[in-house]
Amino acid sequence: MAMDIKQELSRQLTKINVKTSAFMEENRLKTYISTLEGEIANLKLQSGELGYNLWKDNKFDVEKLIPLYKEITGKYQQIQEQEKQIKALGEQNRQILGEPSGAGAGGGAPGAPSGNVCPQCGEVCAPNVNFCKRCGTKLR
Ligand SMILES: [Zn+2]
Repeated sequence: MAMDIKQELSRQLTKINVKTSAFMEENRLKTYISTLEGEIANLKLQSGELGYNLWKDNKFDVEKLIPLYKEITGKYQQIQEQEKQIKALGEQNRQILGEPSGAGAGGGAPGAPSGNVCPQCGEVCAPNVNFCKRCGTKLR
């Protein structure tokens, strides 16, 4: 009997450990996404300023801006990679924990976003915002 309790306890502890490490990994990925989003915002400012300065001096040349645009695109791709990892992580954990996958699994289950989904980039934004926080597309 005491053995059963011990086993059950260790099973529960394993579940908690899996959940905790998944939570930390997810946070790490989300922090990285925020960093990338900050860098994108910065690059957009830079390219905007560069474009304006070139135009002002009558030297506007889109070729000079393209490297910055490409860098921005690269960072968007990196964000998508992190999001894929977050999704895979959630799926992996549901398997380990034996929880049902897909809709209704709770805790930000894929396929069941609760906020405003941006039609342009797929970002899930808060329900009360008018513009996408990532790409600026009008949401309503
Ligand atoms: Zn968007």
